[in-house]
Amino acid sequence: MRLAPYAADPERSRGRRHAEPAPHHRSEYQRDRDRIIHSSAFRRLEYKTQVFVNHEGDLFRTRLTHSLEVAQIARSVARTLALNEDLAEAISLAHDLGHTPFGHAGQDALHACMRAHGGFEHNAQSLRVVDELEDKYAQFRGLNLTFETREGILKHASARRARELGDVGERFLKRRQPGLEAQLANVADEIAYNNHDIDDGLRAGLLSIAQLRAVPLFARHHDEVLATYPKLSPKQERHETIRRIIGTLVADLCETSQRNLDRARPKSIDDVRAEKEPLITYSARIREESLSLKRFLLEHLYRHHRVHRMMTKAQRVVTELFDALLADVRLLPPEWQAALGGSRDELHRARVVADYIAGMTDRYAIDEHERLFDPRRLR
Ligand code: MG
Repeated sequence: MRLAPYAADPERSRGRRHAEPAPHHRSEYQRDRDRIIHSSAFRRLEYKTQVFVNHEGDLFRTRLTHSLEVAQIARSVARTLALNEDLAEAISLAHDLGHTPFGHAGQDALHACMRAHGGFEHNAQSLRVVDELEDKYAQFRGLNLTFETREGILKHASARRARELGDVGERFLKRRQPGLEAQLANVADEIAYNNHDIDDGLRAGLLSIAQLRAVPLFARHHDEVLATYPKLSPKQERHETIRRIIGTLVADLCETSQRNLDRARPKSIDDVRAEKEPLITYSARIREESLSLKRFLLEHLYRHHRVHRMMTKAQRVVTELFDALLADVRLLPPEWQAALGGSRDELHRARVVADYIAGMTDRYAIDEHERLFDPRRLR
């Protein structure tokens, strides 16, 4: 793989928190990717909500299929720009590991519960999962990933949190950028969810093509599809439009980013980090069009009556679980009580309860809620 000078080079990684011998038949970033895929948090993504709760239908995106789509987009762009494909993939696959059950509703509910205890943020939790919560290696806690993968996972941090995190938090205090692979995974995330949410929204019948035609990015590509193929089935029409939108976004991202790189001429990943602004970007026109799609989805899909009803139920489940478990930590499963180590410190207890809830899949959370609240359930 030919790497550009500004790509992350596994031979020159800033390393792992716990030093390990170099891997034999794979690079440091391939090893990160492999550890992420073998983690239990990764497997649980299959049963976590993206927009639709898992049991609402078998064809909707889950956090797992979302993460695979992000990785696929990030890898294509990484290859085009001669960036490190393995690192872009590792970051993409790990970016949502800290997500609570029930998507953003679950995260908002857990954050509200944790307000007096330091808050809860799914992105910070993703780093916590790979740094602390995975616990199957003999020699270290977490997955012991490289600095570059951890840097990419942590997309934002408050000043207080950044100070606690040390090296990986530093850029938030100095207002620096992460490496290009991290910037790329971030945009690939957005391309993936904007497009698959249109697809899922249409399939669920919560959005209509007529409504979506108010979005310029959609209307433009939809016109093109109808002009080329006047007799498509609704499914083909939907897919042909969406694949063209993804194509346009990816092409614009590659071209604009390459122009940015040609202009800034970074000679190393550290030059990239020292930039004031990200170098992996859309053109101004596509950025505006992508924002208008985002606003449309917020108004018409994420706040749709049916999504909202499901999400209020989800918030109730998370909040009631949290309150009951924090009020009596003996209700926690034994291995989580062990994580408490008999601590009476309220902050620590709340964090352990939040870790337990954040790790739940949708159906585990619903089931655990029933087990705790329904006296007819024996276990
Ligand atoms: Mg995501």
